Formats: sequence, structure tokens, C-alpha cells
Amino acid sequence: MTRILFFNTLSRQKEEFRPIEDGVVKMYTCGPTVYDYAHIGNFRAYVFEDILHRFLEYAGYRVTRVMNITDIDDKTIAGAIREGVSLNQYTEKYIKAFFEDMDCLKLKKATYFPRATQHISEMVSLIKTLIEKGHAYEKNGSIYFKISSFPGYGKLSHYDFENLLTTNTDADEYEKDQARDFALWKATKDEPFFWDTEIGRGRPGWHIECSAMSMKYLGETFDIHTGGVDNIFPHHENEIAQSEAATGKKFVNYWLHCAHLLVDGEKMSKSKGNFYTLRDLLKKGYHPSGIRYLLMTTHYRDPLNFTEQSLKQAENTVKHIQAFYQRISFALNNEGNSNQVIEKYINEASEGFVGALSDDLNMSLAMSEVFKFMHSVNEICERTKISGSDAKRIIGFLEKINEVIAVIESVETLPDEFVNLIKKREQARREKNFALADRIRSTLAESGIILEDTPYGTRWIRK
Ligand SMILES: [Zn+2]
Repeated sequence: MTRILFFNTLSRQKEEFRPIEDGVVKMYTCGPTVYDYAHIGNFRAYVFEDILHRFLEYAGYRVTRVMNITDIDDKTIAGAIREGVSLNQYTEKYIKAFFEDMDCLKLKKATYFPRATQHISEMVSLIKTLIEKGHAYEKNGSIYFKISSFPGYGKLSHYDFENLLTTNTDADEYEKDQARDFALWKATKDEPFFWDTEIGRGRPGWHIECSAMSMKYLGETFDIHTGGVDNIFPHHENEIAQSEAATGKKFVNYWLHCAHLLVDGEKMSKSKGNFYTLRDLLKKGYHPSGIRYLLMTTHYRDPLNFTEQSLKQAENTVKHIQAFYQRISFALNNEGNSNQVIEKYINEASEGFVGALSDDLNMSLAMSEVFKFMHSVNEICERTKISGSDAKRIIGFLEKINEVIAVIESVETLPDEFVNLIKKREQARREKNFALADRIRSTLAESGIILEDTPYGTRWIRK
């Protein structure tokens, strides 16, 4: 199997990826909080995770992936109260919108999309374990994780918490022993949404849901956990603390985080008017594949500066790739022998593509290998007509890499009877039987197929 390197936030270096089980990857992605439509900053992370998922499959792994849906938190509760509906009624609309957005950007579905509200018992049982093992305590009905009981705290974010942990905080201000202790379970006072459980009436904190749901579906130790850099602290640091304190085992082997997205060089915010959901961009007339392309081609660990200018460029690049794919597909019925050089180009491009992505998902380098390939093929096409068998190989390569990049739209293929007619017409033209060639052209036109002779071969369009 291809040797793959990932930058692991835990060790702060590139490491060779070795899954726990041969050929299988278990991966967890922090998903959306469904109180609103997801914005392009969120989608930058989801596109990065999609590329990771798709590339692992491309490299031959079977991927089991979990993406949680946070349907209970301060924001979903506030939204449901504001609209006077149940929590489910409120979040359903945004969950549906999220899945539509995922399809639109060709984001591969996770194996599981667990919702926090449907996993309360798993969270309660994890919290009970933490209390039993002395890692959590109750205060005024809420339950907190005791950070001082977990010596590894800070290993992901690389912060030094020693001093912070020994600083006493004003007990009037904090309902907990230490300022940094975080809530596992929140006692509900006036809120309408709560669960009556063995650990009291309340609702879960955010961090505990990811520990409980990831371990339920992927086991106590799994391969990859991803998110945006803003998740590193406190969310992921807390996930490690809760999970490892409860199981005594390493929680996750590889932590991958993607950097921020800026809009016109600034942090995106509603007040600045530079805030975009995916829907906002579609309304402005941008194409999803251009958006996807832009979000995936800056290296995931570099900040991405989103501008409408760069989005237009991305759209043009995608059009360029699509046009190349289409031109080659017109050559599929060409006669002639295969050209060894084409095969050599495909092998080089294939190796370059995989090599770049194997080095911590270097997508821009991977794409430059693809452009180099397209350029070389175009040069050949300018000199000679490529054969159908070469066209088939090139299409095969493009479709293969499209399993990762997912920006090429497949081209409609004609039923065999039409393909045979087109071939018969080419034969007639070679034999200079133009009367027959014209008759076939008319027959096809009557069926709504218009032919056009290009240097790549005969292209067709539907009337
Ligand atoms: Zn999470």
C-alpha cells in the first residue's frame, strides 16, 4: 500500500500513517451544530475531510467514518425557544439543509451521522464512569471534569496548564473547583429541554458527545480524528481527557486539523458583511464545483483567503478540466493504434497525483501533475488524432482521479445504435463516400443528435 504521511497535531510532525487494522481506517469528524445554515468556513473543513476520506479510499482503504450532528447546545435551544417549537422541529430544517449542501459540494457521506440527542444514555454512562474513577464531580446538579486528575491535559494543544491549574479562582464566580474544569452535564433550571437520568435532570455538554459517540461507533481507540484548528482547544483537548480518563487507553492515533478561512483577508463575520453560506454563493450564480475546487486546493494546513476573484479563477480551472475531459470523450470512437507515450504520461501523472496526496494531502501539487498531463496530451492532439483506445485510457485516468477531486461531471454516453452509426459515418468519410456520410448525419439529426467534426474526433450534442 502507498506510504502516506500526515501531519499529526499530537506530535506536531509528519508521521507515516499506520492504521490499527490493516486496510481499514476508522475516522471521526466533528460535524455541524445545526442552528443555522453552514458557512463556507465550515465547508472548508468539510471539504478537507472529504478529500481525506476519498483519498484513503483511493489508496485502497476501507473507511468507516463518523460525523456527529450537534443538535443540542445553547444555540439550538435558543432557536427552538425563539420559534416556540421542539428541539427536533427546529434542528430538522438545518439537518436537511446540511445534507443538501453536502450533496451539492459532492461531499461523501459518513458511515454514521449520530445525533447528540439520540445518544444521551451513552453520554450518561461515560460520565458515570468518570465519576466512579474520580475524574468528575457534581456541583449544584451539574457535573464537571476534574482537569487536575488527568496529567496528560494539554498534550494536543501543547499548552502548559501547570500554573493555571494551581491558581485558585473565586468560588463565587465559578461553580466548579477549578476555573478550567469543564461541564460534562449541565443541570437545567428554566430550560424546557432536559433529560431525567441517573446523574440527574439536565442536558449534556458539547465535548462529551464526541467522546461518547466516537467510541460507540469506532471503539475506544481509533485512527483519525479531524476538525478545524479552532477545535484543538478546548474541544479536542477535552475529548482526549474524557475518553482517556475513562478507558485508560490512547483515544486517537492521528489528529488532523485544517486552518482558518478568511474572506478578503479578514475573519468572516456577519457584521462585516463578508459572511457567506454556501446558499449565498449559489444565489450569486457561482457553480458548486468551482466552490469545491477553491476550498480544496489551498493546502489544508494553510489559511485560505477566499475572494470572489479567486472563486472565478477556480470556476475557470474546473471548466478547463471539464472541457478537456469532454474533448477526449469525443475521440472514444476513433480508429487507430494506441500511442505508448500516452500510457507513459498516464503512469507519470498517476504516480505524481498519488505521491503528492500521500505527502500530507498536497492537493495543489497533485493538481499541477494533472495540468502537466493535460498539457502533454493536448500537444499530442494538436499533431495527430488520438485513437479510441488512448482516449479510453485518458478518460479512465480522469475518472479515477475524479474519485478524489470530484469536480468533473460525467458526459452522457450514447446508446450503441447511435455510436455504431457514427462509426459507420467515419468509415464512409474515410472512403470519401460523402453521400452516405451525409445520410447518416441526417438520420442522427432526426433523432436529435447533432454531429460536429473536430480535430479530436466527431463530437455530438443533443438538439
Ligand atoms: Zn467534536
